[in-house]
Amino acid sequence: MDKDLLGKTALVTGAASGIGKAVAELYGLRGANVMISDIDEQQGQRVAEQLTTAGVNARFCKSDVGDPLQCQKLVQETVTAFGALDIACNNAGIGGELNMTADYSLDGWHRIINVNLNSVFFCMKYELEQMLKQGKGTIVNMASILGQVGTPGSPGYVTAKHGMVGLTKTAAIEYASHGIRINAVGPGYIDTPLLSVLSDDIKQQLIGLHPIGRLGKSEEVAELVVWLSSDKASFVTGSYYPVDGGYLAR
Ligand code: NAD
Repeated sequence: MDKDLLGKTALVTGAASGIGKAVAELYGLRGANVMISDIDEQQGQRVAEQLTTAGVNARFCKSDVGDPLQCQKLVQETVTAFGALDIACNNAGIGGELNMTADYSLDGWHRIINVNLNSVFFCMKYELEQMLKQGKGTIVNMASILGQVGTPGSPGYVTAKHGMVGLTKTAAIEYASHGIRINAVGPGYIDTPLLSVLSDDIKQQLIGLHPIGRLGKSEEVAELVVWLSSDKASFVTGSYYPVDGGYLAR
């Protein structure tokens, strides 16, 4: 395994499960120190212990990304633990309410925008403060195919993911000359606990929207995230990268 991230420190939000867990594992395998963060303390601790057992320098920090103070503390704890913050993957997210726009509840709207969009601004604000002090860093934000196209019944999620892509592009332009690269990744439907609310019928319909003919795997998203986070992607910033089995090409 290529240890090209040796000596770097990576922070992953929502790392207790699914895509975030796979990203944290791959950062660790590639040599990085890894700060695992999640609102789920039990599962998050477990992932950090698994990585430590595998020889990775990993820690866990509980954090609710919908709270700016907790995002600030998360960055501080990462720097205290490892001395720097070189890589951040802002991945934590929820599926939120499933309803058409006119039926969508106000509470549901505020919640999805806070957890899936405001959170990315909160995390980036404090990650960037640290990366600016260092004069370098890379950020990957976890968007979705639904950051590029709409779908009926999920207006809050779609809006949050589109907003995150706009924030990614803007901040990338602002900080490119400071040695900081920022990109967004757009997974198609990936087989994680996030999809557990969907019936088998709906999952089959979703599979039919991917020309590759199956749902994606978390590890397939992690490969792209880790490449974008590494020096191999040194001329890549301000972009949205799909990893979607051909969904957006249809
Ligand atoms: P998942 O449910 O397996 O993992 C999400 C993790 O985020 C969980 O561990 C959860 O505890 C954590 N989390 C939720 N709310 C949080 C909060 N307020 N603060 C901190 N942590 C919180 O889901 P996943 O499929 O791995 O999703 C990860 C990201 O990928 C999300 O942003 C999601 O929108 C995005 N995504 C997923 C898919 C998919 O089909 N699974 C597709 C496109 C994009």
